[in-house]
Amino acid sequence: MNSHRTFSRRTLVSLAGASAFSLKPVLLGSDAEPQRSVAITIDDGPASGAGDDLNSFQTISAALRQIFLDESVPVTMFVNERQLHVSGQRDARIKVVEDWIAAGLDLGNHTFSHRRLRGAALDEFFDDVIKGEVVSRQLLSAQRKPLRWFRYPYLSSDEGKRAAAVEEFLTQRDYAIAPVTVDYKDYSFASNYQRFLRAGDTQQAEELLASVLRAVDNAFEYSETKSNELLGYELPQVLLIHCNQMNALTLNKAIEVIRNRGYRFVSLDQAMQDPAYRTPGLPPGSLGGGFFSGLQQALAS
Ligand SMILES: [Zn+2]
Repeated sequence: MNSHRTFSRRTLVSLAGASAFSLKPVLLGSDAEPQRSVAITIDDGPASGAGDDLNSFQTISAALRQIFLDESVPVTMFVNERQLHVSGQRDARIKVVEDWIAAGLDLGNHTFSHRRLRGAALDEFFDDVIKGEVVSRQLLSAQRKPLRWFRYPYLSSDEGKRAAAVEEFLTQRDYAIAPVTVDYKDYSFASNYQRFLRAGDTQQAEELLASVLRAVDNAFEYSETKSNELLGYELPQVLLIHCNQMNALTLNKAIEVIRNRGYRFVSLDQAMQDPAYRTPGLPPGSLGGGFFSGLQQALAS
């Protein structure tokens, strides 16, 4: 298969620059079919940037949903429930979340109002977590599914005692924290993409999309190398993207780039079964942003 040839070549390239420590597990694994895996997580759901425009809110979410279904890619969408509370549109907006669950796709809590932990009073942050689960938990439980995942807004997980206190709070509410290992900062392209489309400038939009797809490749390469350096193997990656119009129109192309690197797509639950995510000594806050630096500290201690 083409994708496997791509994988092998890239593995050799990364081996050439890797430490002796990482050689053994990769070589051992080469007897079997090489297989990379990634879980996609999509934040700021159901549709950031749609504002009060119900039609655009519905269109963005439906297009994203359809891409995941067409591509047979599992996904966990992290919702800011504040987006559901637009006067006169609440039922229609909640229906969008219901449709997502009915399609077999998962949900997580991203706080009600996308509150940044760093600098916030802890009790206010906790309130925002609780307020952020009201609709999602009810809709999931109607399908006999738990609300299990939490993602920090801005990946701001803080550090030290504050980070530990929040982790304790989240554990008590039965949340598991979703880390990020691959981030190509899709959001940094999204508003320009939208602007070019509105202006009818398809050439600029195409050029920007090409940059996005190069960023996808580079971000995966970085995380693969980091994982090999630290662990001696490639852990199941967790990709962060966002619920915006650019992804609603183009995410299938990014998925193709990822497939061409030899990836198969797994659920967040599956990815998180890798023991690297439970490495003893991971500093508090490591499952927000900066997973690899937390891992590095844990392995060095
Ligand atoms: Zn976010």
